[in-house]
Amino acid sequence: MSAPLLAVENVGMKFGGFIALQGVTTEFRPGRVTSIIGPNGAGKSTFFNVLSGVLTPSTGSVRFKGDDLKGTRQHEFVHRGIARSYQITNIFPDLSVHENVRVAAQAGRARYNIWTNRNRFPELDARADKALESVGLIAKRNETAKFLAHGQQRALEIAIALISDPELLLLDEPTAGMGPEETKEMVALLEKLAAERTILLVEHKMKMILGLSDRILVLHHGQLIADGTPHEIQTDPEVRRVYLGQ
Ligand code: ADP
Ligand code: MG
Repeated sequence: MSAPLLAVENVGMKFGGFIALQGVTTEFRPGRVTSIIGPNGAGKSTFFNVLSGVLTPSTGSVRFKGDDLKGTRQHEFVHRGIARSYQITNIFPDLSVHENVRVAAQAGRARYNIWTNRNRFPELDARADKALESVGLIAKRNETAKFLAHGQQRALEIAIALISDPELLLLDEPTAGMGPEETKEMVALLEKLAAERTILLVEHKMKMILGLSDRILVLHHGQLIADGTPHEIQTDPEVRRVYLGQ
């Protein structure tokens, strides 16, 4: 078995008196798609916020490739190899598609040792275009981001996350607001990306999750209540009770 890429130990998150995560212990190994499911308010986005440095957990620890991430600043998560997208679309609407990714390339350049030096700008441009190619948006590179279809905007966000060539990619509801056609395209993209890196996915679309995931974690009221293969999760009586309403 490979060493864990990310090891989460006894993580808790409190907002005032409200407990959003409690006693979460798990680990993620390289090269798989793991989905995190659970009802609204279960703590899924909070968990991603902790794993990507947006929030510092109230208790517990997160280790990435053996290093404790405590005290690591948010932008340093990207430099280490953890990138994410957000539940709500998060792009610069008035910039072009290329510019959106190019800004991220500039911001993340410490990851690939390209410092502010005009001579290196073509390399950053090329990186941006490579990320656009990998999500199928290169033909749209000069369009203004706000004029893209919703599904293409979500793909653009993934391109932004890919610019740093992350080992661990966290995607929070990448198919939110998509119809069946756009969802199908996103699934194909995720399958392609999963061949190259470890993906953690928060999603609601059950059929999609069951088809795409190697492993599924279930959060309920901030606690992990199940962890298994799609088959194990589908047949887990506790999961059926709290999540599938059966
Ligand atoms: P999910 O993504 O599973 O729907 P969230 O992680 O967004 O759930 O939220 C879990 C719970 O924590 C919710 O009750 C939410 O209202 C609360 N919560 C999330 N972020 C904050 C915050 N910054 N301050 C206070 N409460 C929050
Ligand atoms: Mg959420």
